[in-house]
Amino acid sequence: MSILVLKFGGTSVSKKSNWDNISLIIKERLGRVHKVVVVCSALTGISTKLENLTLAAAKGDYQEKLQEVKKIHQDMCDELGIDFQEILGPSFFEFEKLLCGVAILSDAGPKNWARILSFGELFSTLLGSAYLKKQQVSNAWLDVREHMLASEYETGSLKKRYLEALCECDPDEVLQTKLNQHKENVFITQGFIARNSAGETVLLGRGGSDVSASYLAAKLRSPWLEIWTDVPGMFSANPKAIPEARLLKELSYDEAQEIASTGAKVLHPRCIAPVQVHKIPLHVYSTERPD
Ligand code: ASP
Ligand code: MG
Repeated sequence: MSILVLKFGGTSVSKKSNWDNISLIIKERLGRVHKVVVVCSALTGISTKLENLTLAAAKGDYQEKLQEVKKIHQDMCDELGIDFQEILGPSFFEFEKLLCGVAILSDAGPKNWARILSFGELFSTLLGSAYLKKQQVSNAWLDVREHMLASEYETGSLKKRYLEALCECDPDEVLQTKLNQHKENVFITQGFIARNSAGETVLLGRGGSDVSASYLAAKLRSPWLEIWTDVPGMFSANPKAIPEARLLKELSYDEAQEIASTGAKVLHPRCIAPVQVHKIPLHVYSTERPD
């Protein structure tokens, strides 16, 4: 059975019209593959706000920043016509308890930092899953941490281990079987987060949702990987700064790696290797203009 991985970035998951496109894309892809795994980033700008919120919490003065983050999610729920309290209430409750703990302990160390940042992707996938159900796209919400285990290193700073973890990308038969036997054909899950062998939350580095999608594509032997973002592909230069930049219709993994490593924001440099090793084609599309 074929399981396709689709990844939607922060801007892609922050507008109702984009979620409507996501819903159409999923339905179309289900005519070509058996199952679809949708990997989401946090709402646009949220991860940076969560970093600042963590710092503020450790100083004990974080209510204003917390309310700002809450408001963004409340507004998104309103836009999607879903109930904030029902869908995000329990996770916000946990989130606020955690912030309170950070404030009491004045501890914004890597462990707490990772846990707080993980809520960005938890919130976006919970609200996306609820909205898709409302649109008759039956789906299951998956906590990616159950399947995304960080590699262990003897060395490396605490910061590296909790905030820039790496994972294995060998085919994962346990996960394949779990999804194949699941009654749902659509799964909504988080980019950017993973767990370590102690069961703690770790992050894959800022911008790491692309890397999550690439790991999942390799683990699931996805027939191809789709990264949906706010530009329709890789360009010869930054299209936002240089209007004459050309869209590169096709390029080798090595060329893509070079462009990603030299500063293009479209793909995280660490997301190429897992698909290259397993010879999985990677497509980049624009969520605003799916055609
Ligand atoms: N939300 C995370 C970040 O902003 C991961 C991602 O979007 O790729 O860094
Ligand atoms: Mg990105």
